[in-house]
Amino acid sequence: MSTEAARPAGEPGNPAPSTGPGDGAGPGHGFAAHGTGAITDAITELGHDVFQIDTRMAGYEGVTASYLIRASRPCLVETGTGPSAPVVRDALTALGVGAGDLATVVVTHIHLDHAGGAGDIAGMFPRAEVVVHERGARHLVDPSRLMSSARKVYGDELDGLFGELAPTPADRIRAVEQTGTIDLGGGRRLDSYYSPGHAKHHVGLLDSGSGDLYVGDAAGVYIPETADLRPATPSPDFDLETALRSLRMFGSLRPARLLFSHFGPVTAVGEALGRSAEELRVWVDEVSHAWGSGLDIDHAVAMVRERTDARYAVFKPETDPAVAAKFERFTGAVSNTAGIMHWLDRSAAASAE
Ligand SMILES: [Zn+2]
Repeated sequence: MSTEAARPAGEPGNPAPSTGPGDGAGPGHGFAAHGTGAITDAITELGHDVFQIDTRMAGYEGVTASYLIRASRPCLVETGTGPSAPVVRDALTALGVGAGDLATVVVTHIHLDHAGGAGDIAGMFPRAEVVVHERGARHLVDPSRLMSSARKVYGDELDGLFGELAPTPADRIRAVEQTGTIDLGGGRRLDSYYSPGHAKHHVGLLDSGSGDLYVGDAAGVYIPETADLRPATPSPDFDLETALRSLRMFGSLRPARLLFSHFGPVTAVGEALGRSAEELRVWVDEVSHAWGSGLDIDHAVAMVRERTDARYAVFKPETDPAVAAKFERFTGAVSNTAGIMHWLDRSAAASAE
């Protein structure tokens, strides 16, 4: 994971060209005049019939990705949020996947940036089976508890960032356990591997055709503009040893490439997984110091920031501050510190019993 210098302002972080109908000088460019950008600009071809779709979460570019595996049984990995569902649908349409064509939707876990669009997408693609880990399945059927706990964490920010998770009919859902398999057609499979640590209902997904491993948030957040890798340790599920075990399991699968939901592909797999584990240890170490000194959350966050910001190119003065701001808004130091403190509290309570 190099800490390459920031790219000049205005240059897109992800240099791969978009693809699909309307690319180039086609009619798709007409959309730009309306200020929303052509849907093809949200699509990046990654090879092996895999397409990255920028879900434009909360209006941001380059924060949350869905992926289409355009196999003979097309499969969408991650839905993005509820408000992103029309963006994802338009991208699938542009890629030739119509309402009756999508065979499977799979989410790595049920946090709203990954699965918030599950109900909407299930409605838009009525033949698609929705695959999720068994510990998340009931929340997709009845999102009320998930939504009320998200509202407690995010307050007034919830609507602007994540919107609503619409329910998915139970008969559309297939729950996977420790492992599971999605048939992509033509002998190609997407195998799921239970990978808790970030969340109790998290799976990684390995594509037998490409060697791609969809890591969800289990390996942290990759910032393509600066090639930084930061941890993702939110409440209430974060657990260090469990998270490290999941990273070791990912390594044992020998993937050819990691596809981050935030954001994009990374081919230096061993280096990235090693960095993910190191990030977890550094953050747990720093938060433990703050926690051990009895600091409240605000002071703990300030201390952890002071001691970790220098690790990341995204905070260097030459980097556009908007890049750091967009990632900090929904998965930054506050969420990470709170999640690690919650885990330290739980661990202390458990050992006091
Ligand atoms: Zn996420």
